[in-house]
Amino acid sequence: MATMTQSANAERQTVNRPCRFCGAALRQTFVDLGMSPLCENFPSGADLNCGEVYYPLHVYVCEACFLVQLEQYESPEKIFSDYAYFSSYSDSWLKHAEKYCNKMLKQFDLNARSLVIEAASNDGYLLQYFVRQNIPVLGIEPAANVAKVAVEKGIPTLVRFLGAQFAKELVAEGRCADLVLGNNVLAQVPDLNDFVEALKILLKPEGVLTLEFPHLLADLERNEFDTIYHEHFSYFSMLSTMKIMEAHGMKVFDAEELSTHGGSLRIYACRKDARTHRVDPKVSQLISAEEKSGLACVKGYETFARQVKQTKLALVEFLLTAARQGKTVAGYGAPGKSATLLHYCGIGRDLIEYTVDRSPYKQGRFLPGTHIPIFHPDRIRETKPDYVIILPWNLKDEIIGQLQFIREWGGQFVVPIPKVTVC
Ligand SMILES: [Zn+2]
Repeated sequence: MATMTQSANAERQTVNRPCRFCGAALRQTFVDLGMSPLCENFPSGADLNCGEVYYPLHVYVCEACFLVQLEQYESPEKIFSDYAYFSSYSDSWLKHAEKYCNKMLKQFDLNARSLVIEAASNDGYLLQYFVRQNIPVLGIEPAANVAKVAVEKGIPTLVRFLGAQFAKELVAEGRCADLVLGNNVLAQVPDLNDFVEALKILLKPEGVLTLEFPHLLADLERNEFDTIYHEHFSYFSMLSTMKIMEAHGMKVFDAEELSTHGGSLRIYACRKDARTHRVDPKVSQLISAEEKSGLACVKGYETFARQVKQTKLALVEFLLTAARQGKTVAGYGAPGKSATLLHYCGIGRDLIEYTVDRSPYKQGRFLPGTHIPIFHPDRIRETKPDYVIILPWNLKDEIIGQLQFIREWGGQFVVPIPKVTVC
């Protein structure tokens, strides 16, 4: 028996951890952020006596294709089937969607005979703009509660996970698209090859695919380590994305850098043999920028972990000093990324008394794991904290503008990323 147990342990240690895209063994750590709970589960008061499941946040970089990735610890069905995120709640995101729609209409001459298919179409926040211009659309959305909202708005939506087999079924029904799009979905796909193959299958011979995703180069340069969480399985550079598209018989012909989510990329791709799309110089410019930053060799990925650790030390040091001086610290916001930041840094209620959020869904609930309570934003005015730490740092300008009243009692803001700043 002892021998069997030993050999089982040995087998586990040498377990093959294959790259999600190319299958090469993953050996190189990108960053190990320890253990965290799922970041979109906000326990209510009644849940506080129950246990919470923690999963590792150990990120690897593939030495063969440079895809940065997390192993899949929880099934996408569990994460996304009853998703709490409705895109239409964000004004800036709606504006972004409308602008995108107008650009696509103009650039690719879409009309009443075209078809636009969106993977992970959420509550129809984007497709609604095509519908208003009489462009036929089809949404594919796995979260039934979110898809229902889209259908009620008159946006045809199928409740499914998109994969190659399902894409073939749609094509057999004559549903090929002039434009296929996926915004902030690529990172959340566990079976990356099956998903990308599905996108290609759905394209007409001259059809266009656009994908938006957080840009790994921006994450690296701006130290955005808290954008790593269990819902995001992969983290893309231009280099890795090009390889993935090519492996599935597509070519990237244009790309844009966007300011969304702390720095994103939008890529434009088509079938390899499409004739109408000329490759824009922007594509090679982005590749060169990544090469210059070291993303074309494993060494270039090694600095991130050191930089992240320094951020933790600085933040904890700041909060400990504040606590020793008897200062009070409140949070602002309860974004998914705060779970990663707080767990990695080991920050709990002893250092941040509470946080506030504008979403009524989150008020009265608690941050996952740390159980820091979430209140209505009025709480800040009532308790007059010495410091307000901005957890959705990507919205810091907007939040600092809204909360200028904390100056009345000498309050200051703390921005944790890219480096701890008090202002
Ligand atoms: Zn790989």
